[in-house]
Amino acid sequence: MIVLTFFGSTHPDYIHIGPLHLHIKAFIDWSLQCLGCYESGHSKKHCTNPHRSAVALPWMPT
Ligand SMILES: [Zn+2]
Repeated sequence: MIVLTFFGSTHPDYIHIGPLHLHIKAFIDWSLQCLGCYESGHSKKHCTNPHRSAVALPWMPT
């Protein structure tokens, strides 16, 4: 995995580095994941989305 930073709010779909043709995907930091709706970027305390039911995974805090 290579992490690149682009200025602005969009990124190209592909970049060329020498002979490499790389597909670019957005990096999502899952370290802040809501335990109510399971989206990233906010906590359950600040969630405004409808909560989803899910099976508790062993690495998720309760
Ligand atoms: Zn949420």
